Amino acid sequence: MEPSSRVTAPRRWCTVAWLRRLALAASVLVLAVLLAVLPRTASPRSSLPLQFPEISLTRRTLAPTGPQGNGERSFADGSLYLGSFPARGALPLESLTPGQGIPGITLWPPAPLWPLLREGALHLEHGLLAPTTSYRLDLAWHDGTTQSITFDTLPLYEVIARGPEAGRIDPRTPVWARFGVDVDRASVEANFRLEPPAAGSFSWLDNRTVLFQPQQPLAYGVLHRAFVAGSALDGTPLSPTSWVFRPLIPPPLRVTPGQGAPVVFTFDDGTHDMQQAWSLLSLLRQYEVKAILFPTGRWARAHPDYIERALHDGHRLCNHSETHARLPRLTDEQIAQEILGGAGHGSCDLFRPPSMDLSKRVEKIAASLGYRIYLWDVDSRDWEGLYPEDITHRILARVKPHAVLLFHMHAWGTLEALPPLFARLRSEGYLLTYEGVRGLPKKPSEGPQE
Ligand SMILES: [Zn+2]
Repeated sequence: MEPSSRVTAPRRWCTVAWLRRLALAASVLVLAVLLAVLPRTASPRSSLPLQFPEISLTRRTLAPTGPQGNGERSFADGSLYLGSFPARGALPLESLTPGQGIPGITLWPPAPLWPLLREGALHLEHGLLAPTTSYRLDLAWHDGTTQSITFDTLPLYEVIARGPEAGRIDPRTPVWARFGVDVDRASVEANFRLEPPAAGSFSWLDNRTVLFQPQQPLAYGVLHRAFVAGSALDGTPLSPTSWVFRPLIPPPLRVTPGQGAPVVFTFDDGTHDMQQAWSLLSLLRQYEVKAILFPTGRWARAHPDYIERALHDGHRLCNHSETHARLPRLTDEQIAQEILGGAGHGSCDLFRPPSMDLSKRVEKIAASLGYRIYLWDVDSRDWEGLYPEDITHRILARVKPHAVLLFHMHAWGTLEALPPLFARLRSEGYLLTYEGVRGLPKKPSEGPQE
């Protein structure tokens, strides 16, 4: 899923602008080196006069979203593209200095211009153009003719702040955006969109700041996208913006009391990240939790030290097939092979079919090999990439005495979710062990999982 959505958008924009500048500087350097080493085949002065039929710098080409369709560009980050024209053998490129102007090309009021050769055309990128300003670009050709192009930059009709950002927010929080100018409220409300959709109402802090208050708390743990658009009071379109966030809610206030009963932590599959695997064992040791591990037989064989330590710590090692195959698709013999090659074969009679993929045939073969099918009562859905708070919340909201909880050794949010979960469950009267658990978990209330 989207752990990267934790990085806040403004920071990302800064990084992007930075990288662009870096790339620009690198291109100019390469250009300079090329020009220094390439033989001069033609004198610039002997070439044809420059013609700029393609250039037409209009308001449209200078919109913050730019002609290249890159919505991240704005006037402020110095990467707006001005225009392009054929430059082969004509411009005095050998004397270009980034940011110091280009001989024959001047901009008024002055602003740094960076030249960039791309696919035989010279692109001009500005340094920092001011919004709502009239500029004149003067071009002097080698034949002595000149040309001027004038253009106006647009005002900064953009969202300058917004929320909620990233994750870790309460689903009752309003969705809001603040614009850089006074806006036409009706147009903003008409263009506002939330995905998945939610009913709600608008309110305005001032002429620039809109709040959308959802009627119901937004869907918990679901990635949401907000779209904002509309027009300013003067009719200028606002730059459309969208962003994502994921509502999270704090752990429930009330948890079903444990009353001294056990609750079972189970961890499936294995992981490529051995540091994560070892951290899990440390956590279990630190919080004195006795868990059941269901790695694949293949993973267990590849990590004998780990398995040895886990058993030494008092955890159980049980069967999740040899290779995590989808058993119902296999022949009887293959199914038997998968089970016989599973971890803990001979020492644990619990079999957890991969992806909860079961059939009468699989059950029968497992039973003939002495196994009992062992599923779970509560799926943490950590495999979905949920935030740690989501994982903790899901378990606490559903836990009951003797519940079997499903986790995965490879899920990224699990390690962070476990300590608060252990602490809370213990304080609610649960024993964190597989010992003394009543019955077998056979009917998880949710769909098939890993
Ligand atoms: Zn699995």
